[in-house]
Amino acid sequence: MYVATKFPKNSSFSAWVAMLPARIPTLPLEGAVTVDVAIIGAGFAGLSAARRLSQLDPTLRVAILEAGVVAEGATGRNSGFIIDLPHEVSSEDFGGSSTDRAKRDITLYRTAIGLATDMAQEYGWGHDIIDPCGRYSVAISEKGDAHIKAYARQLQGLNESHEILDARGIHEVTGSQLYTSGLYMPGTVMVQPAAYIRAVADSLRNPVTLYEHSAVRSFDRQPGGWSVKTSKGTVTAKRIILANNGHAQSFGLFPGQLLHVFTYASMSEPFDPRRLNGKRDWAATPALPMGTTVRRLSGAEGDRILIRSRYSYHAGLEINEGHVRSAGRVHDGKFADRFPNLTGVKMQYRWGGPMALTWNSVPIFGEIEPGLFAACACNGLGASKSTAAGIAAAEAVVGLKSPLVEVFSNYDSPKNLPPQPFLSIGAKADLRLREWRAGRE
Ligand SMILES: Cc1cc2nc3c(=O)[nH]c(=O)nc-3n(C[C@H](O)[C@H](O)[C@H](O)COP(=O)(O)OP(=O)(O)OC[C@H]3O[C@@H](n4cnc5c(N)ncnc54)[C@H](O)[C@@H]3O)c2cc1C
Repeated sequence: MYVATKFPKNSSFSAWVAMLPARIPTLPLEGAVTVDVAIIGAGFAGLSAARRLSQLDPTLRVAILEAGVVAEGATGRNSGFIIDLPHEVSSEDFGGSSTDRAKRDITLYRTAIGLATDMAQEYGWGHDIIDPCGRYSVAISEKGDAHIKAYARQLQGLNESHEILDARGIHEVTGSQLYTSGLYMPGTVMVQPAAYIRAVADSLRNPVTLYEHSAVRSFDRQPGGWSVKTSKGTVTAKRIILANNGHAQSFGLFPGQLLHVFTYASMSEPFDPRRLNGKRDWAATPALPMGTTVRRLSGAEGDRILIRSRYSYHAGLEINEGHVRSAGRVHDGKFADRFPNLTGVKMQYRWGGPMALTWNSVPIFGEIEPGLFAACACNGLGASKSTAAGIAAAEAVVGLKSPLVEVFSNYDSPKNLPPQPFLSIGAKADLRLREWRAGRE
């Protein structure tokens, strides 16, 4: 029997949720239901799994159990990049196995983008939910410029389209004089993450049922399947998909394999778009790992800037408002650095959220016990990776030996992390060092 010792506790709402009308959550689970598949967690992984199951077999009865309200977890707290190309510029020996790894990642990411864009077409979603506008990688130092050039060479090798921009070119896009170069990659799809995941949730139809405010307290094997318990109900399911990311560990699973790192974002109040030159909608990730993500969004009441940076390690899977405030001070500095002509524009919303990483950056995927499937460990890129993992988990549940299942099944196993307290000390020191190396980026 697996019993939860901890449940998700979200700090302040993200801007994405705060800017939407309040959600009327679905009814919590009450009483007993019997289904073919129970999914634990309604983030990118869980809801993508539900969507894929309903495509594979529309008669399958599926219950999705979500501890909180859709979009209030990490899936509705991110920066909204569904990237199609790996983030990191690998070392100069990029080639051979690195190229194979990059191609494998690209396959996963594009599968995730396919789910999002197919749904957008099917349901007629507008740019308020999804925008296939691509992304920029931006540099503000010689080191960053060198990364951009090296990465562009690698994209060339992979035959992936891209465009290098000099300081003037990236200034024309962003209105910021700080950036020294940029790289445009057209394949990334941007979402308003809370609006997107709500729309995915609301597209699901009988016999797929979503139960919000229904934290799973335990699950237990029984003849022919599993019994899954919440505080007010029980689901009897032939199979379970664990799509609760880092909280899989709260059931005692994957001990010593998940690293709980939080990252933070701030969203400005709206400002008069005439105050900042450049395009009114763009999205940029930093050239150097651990740098700052920036997004500009246009809106009827003015434009807003999102800043995402800072990382912190929390073994207990919780942060408090002090952590959010401290990251916010860093965001204010990054904002002032990049947009001096927006002096006086304040940050309206600030928030943080969890990511579950593994030591060797591999997902935790597959049938870990008969009838118990995992699609966990987003490794910080859940919009792409967890979506793809959810799709693959659904395919594995129905016994489909798809290329995607094969890709996920061929990942190495997650490596064991050092024991505590060495893990906490090491993780904190390592994050600080990497942030220091990223400098102003
Ligand atoms: C500020 C920030 C910016 C980010 N930016 C990006 C980005 O631009 N692009 C990107 O790809 N990634 C980004 N990420 C990471 C991304 O948000 C995560 O990787 C992603 O949300 C993981 O999705 P998931 O479905 O695996 O897990 P989650 O989103 O964590 O969903 C798991 C769900 O399980 C539920 N749950 C947990 N325990 C239980 C239980 N016992 N019973 C029932 N339900 C339970 C939780 O409430 C939650 O809703 C960012 C993260 C943050 C915090």
